[in-house]
Amino acid sequence: MLSDYTHICGRELIAEIKELAEPLRGRRVVHISATAFGGGVSEILYTLVPLMRDVGLDCEWQVIYGREEFFNATKLLHNALQGAPQDLDEEHWSTWLRYNEMNARELSGDWDVCLVHDPQPAGLFGLVPEKAKGWVWRCHIDLSTPNPDTIARFLPYVEGYPATLFHMQDYVPDGMSGHVHVVPPAIDPLTPKNMALSPEDASFVCDQFGIDVDRPLMCQVSRFDPWKDPLGVIDAYRAVKQHLPEVQLALVGSMASDDPEGWDFFNATIAHAAGDFDIHILNNFNNVGAIEVNAFQSHADVVVQKSTREGFGLTVTEAIWKARPFIGGNVGGIPLQIEDGVTGFLVDSVEECAQRSLEVLNDPALGKFLGRRGKEYVRTHFLTPRYLRDYLRIFHELNER
Ligand code: UDP
Repeated sequence: MLSDYTHICGRELIAEIKELAEPLRGRRVVHISATAFGGGVSEILYTLVPLMRDVGLDCEWQVIYGREEFFNATKLLHNALQGAPQDLDEEHWSTWLRYNEMNARELSGDWDVCLVHDPQPAGLFGLVPEKAKGWVWRCHIDLSTPNPDTIARFLPYVEGYPATLFHMQDYVPDGMSGHVHVVPPAIDPLTPKNMALSPEDASFVCDQFGIDVDRPLMCQVSRFDPWKDPLGVIDAYRAVKQHLPEVQLALVGSMASDDPEGWDFFNATIAHAAGDFDIHILNNFNNVGAIEVNAFQSHADVVVQKSTREGFGLTVTEAIWKARPFIGGNVGGIPLQIEDGVTGFLVDSVEECAQRSLEVLNDPALGKFLGRRGKEYVRTHFLTPRYLRDYLRIFHELNER
């Protein structure tokens, strides 16, 4: 319930939300995304949708229908839009469109707002604009340096949306004709993943996964995806281990249902670890759920997110909300959250990642200082009620047009 957040986010924000929500009471809002599990979008919708309902909106979340051929095409689309050289071929594009047409037909009508998340269902607006009064395309990925052929072909499907949302100004493609909003996402401080866990509970959980809780731990939580660079994290850990032999590494990654490449890259990561007993590679099939992710993030002496592309990086927000020393790639949404040397460290290479990790591991007071600052930064910028407020403002704007 919204009121549960009052003392975590402050009364003023909660009052503002109530005021914005009152005239929108009963409005029919639907969120449409590609998967109900795995990755940042589902993470956000799990808590945003109930909160929208709590403030009086008639809000639903629908997951589009797709089979392997569709997700193969959308994975390529996702990668190419984030800059991968491989473009989709004609068959991929026609598969993408065919599934969008199928889902467009299945979508019921009469929505006040239809909120479409990411590229997978982005074709819906152009296909059935009459099914909602207001349309929003919410882009969660980094569009700053897309594959030029892919973005040229993709843009016509999204540039006409009356409202679009991007995490950063840098991600806004040229030619958007609707109202463009720069709004970063947020995490929910009251979910099992982000609520405070005592150090005893956190280490109790980690211990059950074979971590020696009396030795230092580096950790990265993320999907097994080349952009998240788990192989680079292993290399950084190896460099740290030369100076600090007792260090351990945990790579915790969920397998998303819309990510067919995930298993191949998971196996590649295991191969790169080469049987090192101090590298723990875990996924949701080892029963690593929200509490376990929380425990690893809370217990780790350094939390790393060594991405080479990162739309926003909810894992970054989650780690610093737990006041952990954080080291992340200087890319995408990570610098939006981390001020280098103030709320964590930004790095550009494996060597730098290793060096900063060593610094933090050798100086716990430094880690504490960074962690505390980071937490307060998240409190004011990246908690769900702020995000809800921003959406409500956009709904008002759509209404006024
Ligand atoms: N996540 C999880 N279990 C895992 C790995 C990731 O629950 O094993 C969650 C993670 O805590 C975060 C989300 O998945 O909330 C990933 O979002 P992020 O923005 O970091 O990256 P994305 O996967 O969307 O690229």
